[in-house]
Amino acid sequence: RMGRKFFVGGNWKCNGTIEEVKKIISILNAGEVPSSDVVEVVLSPPFVFLPLVKSELRPDFHVAAQNCWVKKGGAYTGEISAEMLVNLDIPWVIIGHSERRALLGETNEFVGEKVAYALSKGLKVIACVGETLEQREAGSTMEVVAAQTKAIADKISDWSNVVIAYEPVWAIGTGKVATPAQAQEVHAALRGWLSSNVSAEVAESTRILYGGSVNGANSKELAAQPDVDGFLVGGASLKPEFIDIIKAAT
Ligand code: PEP
Repeated sequence: RMGRKFFVGGNWKCNGTIEEVKKIISILNAGEVPSSDVVEVVLSPPFVFLPLVKSELRPDFHVAAQNCWVKKGGAYTGEISAEMLVNLDIPWVIIGHSERRALLGETNEFVGEKVAYALSKGLKVIACVGETLEQREAGSTMEVVAAQTKAIADKISDWSNVVIAYEPVWAIGTGKVATPAQAQEVHAALRGWLSSNVSAEVAESTRILYGGSVNGANSKELAAQPDVDGFLVGGASLKPEFIDIIKAAT
């Protein structure tokens, strides 16, 4: 993994109260983890808790929004713009999570446009891709992941502020984690796709995270795979074991 700093993202999804958020922050702040030279840690609370988390969280951990609007803000009721995130000094945003693709109808093209707009405003992006169980069983995993990645590649030229999260939909929130070999296979193929379709440099330097039922117990073996550069964690990012996942970096 030479040159690609390990990255651990925590996606809190639509969970938490002020009290719960304060509790998890105090656990994270007390956790002993490898230095930020070794691992980059980014927590993604719901929008309404972003200022609280940003102000209370230890300075070596950073924050991400879970979404942003596809273009400049304006008459888009209920949306949060990239400009607002920049204004609040939120460095990261997750784009194209499978829950938004599935439940809110975000298409590959829409996700690609969002990534491009967020990057243009100076945000760093965790871009999510991944196949459903049906697609995996039909043998089209790489075709699906390539199409999702191509829709992003078509709209951007600079990948230095992009991290890709490979999250097989069948593994998200199911307790059914991909085996280290299954994750490695897709990560390597995705890196190969980047090499052939973007550039060898981008393929070499872009971090590809695995997401889907990662926990304290399975993170070490997944992290040992040469093309797994970190994790995007849902459920376990709300628990003390998130510290163990961060420790899988070393
Ligand atoms: C996610 O939603 O990004 C995720 C990986 O969830 P979980 O870890 O709960 O499977």
